[in-house]
Amino acid sequence: MIQRTIEQLATMMKVENDISKYKKQSIKGVAFDTRMIKEGNLFVPLKGEKADGHQYVEKAISQGAGAVLWQKDMPYPPEGIPVLLVEDTLVALQELAHAYRKQIPVKVIGITGSNGKTTTKDIAAAVFSQKYRVHKTEGNFNNHIGLPYTLLHMAEDTEIAILEMGMSSKGEISLLSKIAEPDVAIITNIGEAHLQDLGSREAISEAKFEIVDGLAENGLLIIPGEETLLQDKVVNFNQYRIQTFGEITTNDAFPERIQSDEKGSVFTVPSFSEEPVSLPIAGRHNVFNTLAVFLAAREFSISLSLIKIGLKAVKLSNMRMEWHEGIKGTRILNDAFNASPTSMRAVLSMFATMGDHHDRMVVLGDMLELGEHEKDYHLQIGRELNPQSIKYVFTYGELGKYIAEGAREQFPKDRVFDFTEKDELIQTLTEKINGKEYILFKASRGAKLEVMIEAIEK
Ligand code: ATP
Ligand code: MG
Repeated sequence: MIQRTIEQLATMMKVENDISKYKKQSIKGVAFDTRMIKEGNLFVPLKGEKADGHQYVEKAISQGAGAVLWQKDMPYPPEGIPVLLVEDTLVALQELAHAYRKQIPVKVIGITGSNGKTTTKDIAAAVFSQKYRVHKTEGNFNNHIGLPYTLLHMAEDTEIAILEMGMSSKGEISLLSKIAEPDVAIITNIGEAHLQDLGSREAISEAKFEIVDGLAENGLLIIPGEETLLQDKVVNFNQYRIQTFGEITTNDAFPERIQSDEKGSVFTVPSFSEEPVSLPIAGRHNVFNTLAVFLAAREFSISLSLIKIGLKAVKLSNMRMEWHEGIKGTRILNDAFNASPTSMRAVLSMFATMGDHHDRMVVLGDMLELGEHEKDYHLQIGRELNPQSIKYVFTYGELGKYIAEGAREQFPKDRVFDFTEKDELIQTLTEKINGKEYILFKASRGAKLEVMIEAIEK
């Protein structure tokens, strides 16, 4: 993590107040939350919607903060400790992260897209660590605060930083990209996520495309080749190199001979080699996330044999395609980290083919942040559920109800249940379990489905 003297920090953030008394003092790491403070950290008080970090500065100091940022318009900066006065503490945090990134000879891979960012990041980290010292985004530290924090916590000798870039509105990816200045930028896909804020798929693709705003000159942009909205944008593009991944053989990376089951997929990538590669995570969509990583890996001269070793070691972040042993020999697929119509469809189409001789049940909850047509999106998902491949449909939540409503159009009524209480759902679900069923849980983060999973775990 960052370790600099107060004087150096002041230069990096263009701080002008007198810090001469403390200038040689060393600071290590930053924290913006007093619960995360470590001895010698720089405390960055941020003004949030609910709280203002400036109120916690005393606490931060008592917990060992070595210096603090302080926004100029706030009265009574603390005394007896180095204080760096700035116009805006958030902007200063971002400037510091940017300056640190520029001081280290690290190469940065930025990943955005509607779905699959975290997965692609985790796959990339597994592959790149076979050859390089890698630092990656942890948890959901993918926004205007999390990304600078991630950069500031990379070791000085990091060779490759793999950063997830998330967004909920226009302009955010542009900012993140300018802070991180990626050498390689990946857009995983364009889905319907966050329609609430952006309005249309076109607007979403615009917003994701902002990742080129900070892309290094002659950097590499990796995009899905069959996404026409992105293809339209790159037609007249020559500042950057562009490579594509997708189904068809004109892409720079495309898969052949895909064999998928619940444990993962085996496939070849003919533009790399005829040798089969195996990916230990299920879902056809993950084959495509992996293809994006293939292209990034080639950019850094990682051989196919190292890629293969890396893929074997992939570990996904929590609640993404996680298998659990459930009661009575059931198998539970927890993909409840988040959900949008695109990711819901991706996982449902995969789930429908899993566990050949086992009955399948789905527990689907609200997909949040979809804007004014949210009910239609839920209805539509319900209509697409196939009674041949799914025995029981359970829905959770007020929006989830519309999935049930859609499903009732083609399912017998006694195979579809909607609930707004978790324990009632679990009770009915448990009654329907005979043993050996496959059960999928998926919803937006806010639905907290994991509580139900715990209830039926073995
Ligand atoms: P968030 O915006 O919540 O950070 P994310 O983009 O990081 O999401 P992941 O957490 O990697 O996405 O994956 C979320 C879900 O999206 C997965 O569990 C999976 O069901 C689905 N998914 C992953 N990759 C793709 C893809 N390429 N296309 C469609 N759906 C995908
Ligand atoms: Mg994510």
